[in-house]
Amino acid sequence: MIEIQNVHKSFGQLEVLKGIDLTVQKGEVVTVIGGSGSGKSTLLTCINGLEPIDKGKILVDGTEVHAKTTNLNKLRQKIGIVFQQWNAFPHLTVLENVTLAPRKVLGIGKAEAEAIAEKQLKHVGLGEKLSTYPTRLSGGQQQRMAIARALAMSPDYMLFDEVTSALDPQLVGEVLETLKMLAEEGMTMICVTHEMAFARDVSDRVAYFHKGIMAEIGAPDQLFNDPQHPETRKFLASVR
Ligand code: ATP
Ligand code: MG
Repeated sequence: MIEIQNVHKSFGQLEVLKGIDLTVQKGEVVTVIGGSGSGKSTLLTCINGLEPIDKGKILVDGTEVHAKTTNLNKLRQKIGIVFQQWNAFPHLTVLENVTLAPRKVLGIGKAEAEAIAEKQLKHVGLGEKLSTYPTRLSGGQQQRMAIARALAMSPDYMLFDEVTSALDPQLVGEVLETLKMLAEEGMTMICVTHEMAFARDVSDRVAYFHKGIMAEIGAPDQLFNDPQHPETRKFLASVR
């Protein structure tokens, strides 16, 4: 379970998160939508401890992310994160790229790490690309490789930050299908996305962020068909 309690976060004078409360249960898929600069990415980087917070708490399975005593490296192994773009090591094959973290971070032996990587690459539909170099992959394939790389660490939680935003439109679908597959398998996920149809389709709940506040959260049907907050209505009208 991820528990976000009254989280405040500023960059200098700019308050980017103004008291966020959100609990994500095991197996739940929560998508986060909202305008540019509303704090969506910042929330994800706070959840895995990449950014400090100024007030409040974030607990992952009961462990406080920002407590001094927390072993962040260990905690981060539970939380996979995939961004808009990931720069794979160009001189390593797809398989080697995905094998790296299990070997270096988890200390798993070469053969076992390769078996894990191969399994995850097959899972995201890249079974034919194990010995290909990343620069030879399409954007959609590169993003699926990034997802496989995160999955190879056997995370309990996955955070996705606009993983399709940098893709050509015809490549978006295959990546969203991969996310949908993970959701259906029961992965606990927080997905920041601009893809409203996807959010409607896969989410248990959709959160709308506006200027550092979670203005509204609800089931997709409710949020998209009957938004309660005027800013949610405005936003949805602008993206439709
Ligand atoms: P987008 O949809 O454009 O990705 P977002 O909702 O993800 O937007 P954030 O990236 O969380 O927004 O940024 C929230 C605000 O914090 C923005 O005004 C941004 O400029 C600012 N910000 C983000 N990261 C930093 C940083 N490292 N230093 C200073 N300001 C930052
Ligand atoms: Mg962002």
